[in-house]
Amino acid sequence: MQKVKLPKQVDPVKSAVKRSEYSGVMMSKDMPRLVEVVSGIADTIDVYLKFEKDEQGLTIFHGTLSTSVELICQRCNDSMAHSIDVSFCFSPVQGQEQSVLDELPEAYEPVEVNDHGEVNLLQLFEDELMLSLPIVALHAEEDCPVKEEDMSFGDIEPVDERPNPFAVLKELKRD
Ligand SMILES: [Zn+2]
Repeated sequence: MQKVKLPKQVDPVKSAVKRSEYSGVMMSKDMPRLVEVVSGIADTIDVYLKFEKDEQGLTIFHGTLSTSVELICQRCNDSMAHSIDVSFCFSPVQGQEQSVLDELPEAYEPVEVNDHGEVNLLQLFEDELMLSLPIVALHAEEDCPVKEEDMSFGDIEPVDERPNPFAVLKELKRD
């Protein structure tokens, strides 16, 4: 399958009738909310996407999103690489009628279509990627220069014997 730039808006019902399938990319620069919450991000997001009707005749679209980002480790304040690989399965709904939502199998996440029956894939996938980020970014313990024991209140650290650099400055000023 050829790598294509994905459409930003689609009509999932029409696409399901055509059984459209995409393997393509989205540009991270088109996802400003995501860019803002990470310290770095790859230029592209790999997307695999397939539209179809399930056995009950419900329109669904499912696939995967993957990219890599840089986050700031909350333990050592250094950057860390983080790969994102998420799978999704959406079913379009119009309006938020509870009866419609209740009928939806649990495996499907409802996604609201606009008045033209379209879904904004760009926004939807941006949300999905943001939701996949860890709430608190931390290196794996073995990769983090700050060790867990440094964080705990254990023995009192030996007092630093080196002269305070500001004290030296004071001396110089006095001369
Ligand atoms: Zn760290």
